[in-house]
Amino acid sequence: MGVNKVMVVGAGIMGSGIAQVCIEHGLTTVLTDVSKEFADKGKAKIEHFLQRKIEKGKITQEVKDHAMSLLTTSGDYKDGADADFVIEAATENVPIKLKIFEQLDEIVQENAILASNTSTISITKIAGATKHPDRVIGTHFFVPPPAMKLLEIIPGILTSEATEKAAFDFAEVIEKTAIKAPDTSGFLVNRMLVPMQNEAIFLAMEGNDPKDIDQAMKLGANFPMGPLELTDFAGLDTVLAVMTQMYEDLGDPKYRPCPLLKKIVNAHLLGRKTGKGFYDYTK
Ligand code: NAD
Repeated sequence: MGVNKVMVVGAGIMGSGIAQVCIEHGLTTVLTDVSKEFADKGKAKIEHFLQRKIEKGKITQEVKDHAMSLLTTSGDYKDGADADFVIEAATENVPIKLKIFEQLDEIVQENAILASNTSTISITKIAGATKHPDRVIGTHFFVPPPAMKLLEIIPGILTSEATEKAAFDFAEVIEKTAIKAPDTSGFLVNRMLVPMQNEAIFLAMEGNDPKDIDQAMKLGANFPMGPLELTDFAGLDTVLAVMTQMYEDLGDPKYRPCPLLKKIVNAHLLGRKTGKGFYDYTK
């Protein structure tokens, strides 16, 4: 199946990054959010990142202009009704995602693929909100989507082979390395990565300096980014949502979200996206 048009639902950190990947690979893309204003904020981020690529000599103005010409924004999913590949990257929250999939299923064309970028919610559960669970699949990108090479592809119980193939074909078009991951909480990467981030937050709660915690993993385990820096980058609310879901799904106390993480999220210090998290980005 060839992809002519993509709709990305949710224009935050991930949705805007995924839309950037799509337009940089020549795909006509509509980026949607709860309002056009929100979607436009995502578009502004893409414009900024492409401008930086020009300044670094990685792309030309012509390449940027062509990519941006492929992007439109909207506050209405109906503007993506003719999309053949839809990627949902809205807030990590079960009722929000179920509602979105129920609506998308009614709006998009019969042969469109409905993919979710959820970090941990069961694809089978999301597919259950639609009348066509065979066309629902997980396509899990990593932060930031333009830079990270991996794409986890997660079929649900009722996902068809054709949908799975379409997702692998799509990965090829956008030049990601795709792996098949199981539809269990956290899939493959987050099952390992997020408990490690949670453990780093426990160490911060025990009084260790965040800089030491991050330095430990950067120099001692060759991580490009420390676990607390990564948590700030990904968004503390998203990391808490993932831990909470994993704890609920897997039922093992080793997945309990760290109380300090809950406290910081309650203070609305969500990391880079709000300017403060474990570190202060406002200075
Ligand atoms: P974010 O908070 O940056 O953005 C979420 C966006 O979704 C917001 O712009 C919000 O307005 C929008 N939204 C909420 N409800 C919506 C609706 N009904 N319709 C359309 N848009 C809606 O979050 P994010 O970090 O971009 O995460 C998005 C998804 O990607 C989540 O499922 C998350 O688990 C997953 N994910 C996140 C990361 C990460 O590191 N941040 C990595 C991989 C996957």
